Amino acid sequence: MELFESPAERLFRKSVRTFLKEKLPADLRDKVRDFVWLEKQDFVRWHNIIADHGWQGPTWPAQYGGQGWTAIQRKIFDEECQLAYAPRTIPHVNMICPVLNKYGSTEQKARFLPDLYRLKDWWCQGYSEPDAGSDLAGLRTFAERQGDGYVVNGQKTWTTWAHWADWMFCLVRTNKEGRPQEGISFLLIDMKSPGITVRPILSIDGCHDLNEVYLDNVQVPVENRVGEENKGWTIAKFLLSHERTDLAGVGLCKRLLRCAKQAASSHFRQGKPLAEQPSIRNRLIELEMEVMAHEWTVLRVLSQDDAGEPAANAASILKIRSTELQQSLTALMMDCAGPRGLQYVIAARTQDWDETLPVRKFDNALAGNYLDWRKVSIFGGTTEIQKNIISKMLLTQ
Ligand SMILES: Cc1cc2nc3c(=O)[nH]c(=O)nc-3n(C[C@H](O)[C@H](O)[C@H](O)COP(=O)(O)OP(=O)(O)OC[C@H]3O[C@@H](n4cnc5c(N)ncnc54)[C@H](O)[C@@H]3O)c2cc1C
Repeated sequence: MELFESPAERLFRKSVRTFLKEKLPADLRDKVRDFVWLEKQDFVRWHNIIADHGWQGPTWPAQYGGQGWTAIQRKIFDEECQLAYAPRTIPHVNMICPVLNKYGSTEQKARFLPDLYRLKDWWCQGYSEPDAGSDLAGLRTFAERQGDGYVVNGQKTWTTWAHWADWMFCLVRTNKEGRPQEGISFLLIDMKSPGITVRPILSIDGCHDLNEVYLDNVQVPVENRVGEENKGWTIAKFLLSHERTDLAGVGLCKRLLRCAKQAASSHFRQGKPLAEQPSIRNRLIELEMEVMAHEWTVLRVLSQDDAGEPAANAASILKIRSTELQQSLTALMMDCAGPRGLQYVIAARTQDWDETLPVRKFDNALAGNYLDWRKVSIFGGTTEIQKNIISKMLLTQ
């Protein structure tokens, strides 16, 4: 196991830093730094800047413009982007591309992968339903086979960015008999199909990312099914392992640590910065050590991944640790702001902020940002469910 970067990896990190310095637009950087909500065009713009540089698709095959980077290189890339306040890469792209690559037909690969490279198609994930979140296999959206296609009826929920989406990768039930896992298929659904209704769900900070998606007699051609009928559960699990590995977020933890340090240095009590008060200083030191320990665990897992041992088993551990750290760091920022952080002005998270106001934009974005960060221990599988997975792994070894 090699935990230190090789000379080639150090060189790679340097090239990522140079790219970010030259190519990351200042307006996008400022938005991310100030916790301003990004628009679809912000993500598309950044995605294509990376694509223009030839660096799109680290998890994709070389024939569709992927990099074939090692897991360590991917971690370096993500970390440098997060530290530079670049917009996040689109998680759905990193979920659907490995699925199409592994399970898609030749036609599906040719149809979808090149457009994903340029983000011409925006995708959303239709997994969760009102009574099927943690218990995903309990999903009830039904796809009835009729001739060369399916007729789909049901409801998906918490569907991030469905209102922007051209396509949804969707789990549907195609057989009501037997074990629930054995009657699920994986469909690619055109969001412009008649019978689809998307309704917004506003989250606690007032943001509109989430949606409900209603499917009412939606026609889906059979060639839009990935893999065999009733074998979608294997694909669903494969996709989730990619979703969770992406959630290790070392760069994000480091960025939040930097923000917490800034908050501790720029707020004062009795004339002294909070960073010099023992209670805040100790919390910062503890969190910094925990972020470092998290990074070493991620490196250990990734070096196993590069050596051909499956890293997916560790994904649950990394997800829990990362989200706990992110939530502790955003809580510390709030504590540093004290009463100034209690007021939440939504305009601080949009482009409508009035710069002449006698209050700091950052402080007024904090409460919304703190509340928003509570979601990370729910999506991608809740903390309790990750703990169940870990305990099953340990008990069956
Ligand atoms: C911000 C956000 C974005 C999301 N985006 C998407 C998306 O794009 N597409 C999509 O398909 N889904 C999405 N989701 C849904 C997400 O996957 C589910 O919220 C998650 O799987 C939990 O399901 P649930 O909300 O139905 O909660 P439930 O499963 O009802 O769980 C409720 C509580 O009970 C606990 N619990 C449940 N079962 C057990 C058990 N067996 N043992 C111990 N505790 C248990 C849970 O941990 C939780 O605390 C998103 C969620 C959020 C918050």
